[in-house]
This record gives sequence, C-alpha cells and structure tokens, in this order.
Amino acid sequence: MTETKPPQDDCYDCRNAGEELDAFVRGELPIEAAGRMQEHLHRCRHCDDVARFEQAFRDRLKRAGTKVECPEALRRKVQDLLARARDDA
Ligand SMILES: [Zn+2]
Repeated sequence: MTETKPPQDDCYDCRNAGEELDAFVRGELPIEAAGRMQEHLHRCRHCDDVARFEQAFRDRLKRAGTKVECPEALRRKVQDLLARARDDA
C-alpha cells in the first residue's frame, strides 16, 4: 500500500471505467472488458461507488417497470442505500 493519492490521480482506468460503466451495468461489456472493470472496482473505491449506484439505480428501474414517473425520488433512495452500504463497509 503505497497509494496516498486520490485514485483519480493515479489510476488511468478511472476514465475508461467511467466510459464503460454504463455498458458494464447493462451487461453489455465484452467479457474481457468486464473482467478489467471488475478488477478496477475492487481497487477503486470511487468507481465502485459509482458502479453500485448505477447498478442499484438500474435494478430499481427494472423493478419499477419501464415507466418511471419520478426518477429523482428514486435516485435519492438509491443514494441513501449507497450511503448505508458505505457505512457497512
Ligand atoms: Zn477508478
């Protein structure tokens, strides 16, 4: 553990991860890229948070059906869940 800098500084993958995250949570990423992403998420708390958020958000959307009247409220709920998950970790 020599990392003292914020992950964004150090971790070139963050940019890629940001770009590929959408495809990743949709399960559309090629297996190789998905593996790389997963590895990155293990190392990078920042991207892991984002991925969790996206995944939880998508999951909620799926459960709510295709018609979502109030994404803002959903988003807040997911953020709340995310905050609690972070407390657990
Ligand atoms: Zn990252």
